[in-house]
Amino acid sequence: MNLIFFGPPGAGKGSYASRISVRYGIPHISTGDLFRKEIKAQTELGKLADSYISKGRLVPDQITVDMLKKRIAESDCKKGFILDGFPRTIPQAETLEKSGIKIDKVFNFVVTNEKIIERLGGRRTCSKCGAIYHLKNLPPKVEGICDKCGGKLFVRDDEKPETIKQRLEVYKNQTEPLIGFYRKRKMIVDVDANPEVKAIIPVIEKIIDSM
Ligand code: AMP
Repeated sequence: MNLIFFGPPGAGKGSYASRISVRYGIPHISTGDLFRKEIKAQTELGKLADSYISKGRLVPDQITVDMLKKRIAESDCKKGFILDGFPRTIPQAETLEKSGIKIDKVFNFVVTNEKIIERLGGRRTCSKCGAIYHLKNLPPKVEGICDKCGGKLFVRDDEKPETIKQRLEVYKNQTEPLIGFYRKRKMIVDVDANPEVKAIIPVIEKIIDSM
């Protein structure tokens, strides 16, 4: 079962994917997380990716596709996988299609602009363990401090207001056209992603179970 979780930044793709991954025993592959791992390890790839990510721009297709193909080739992907944040451009989708990897379903998470800004603007990340909080929806017990490890919470560069605006612009111009690409192939199912995470998971599960 190979799935794509698609939608604008802040649609909640990562939250849904991590839960569905556990429920169905297939890996959650987030290209954003893969890049952040490289950035943290200060690899050449990480340094290059960071120069785009911190400005709210997309990392070039070739670099992203190479990294993703390597990940999909790992043995835990044999039973299937959930792609979160890939593809983000038409050329990425075309490369995926040409590579012969069959995608069973594309979940398109639909969310209003107001919700996106509320969700992304309130996010805080632990500088030590990477845990994610939200000022309104999932606040830490002590302000600015991680519940799990005591690390300091910070706002990711790509979650600062001016970068969020840029990311939404990039989504509209480069990523949204993929909806048409997959609709033409009758692979898309739309899911209203405005409600809370816990209301959306059963909707996704119902669709998967009917596949
Ligand atoms: P995310 O965590 O999915 O929001 O990704 C964080 C950032 O990583 C994005 O804003 C992009 O700069 C970069 N990124 C993630 N996935 C891709 C992709 N498929 N193509 C290009 N850049 C990506």
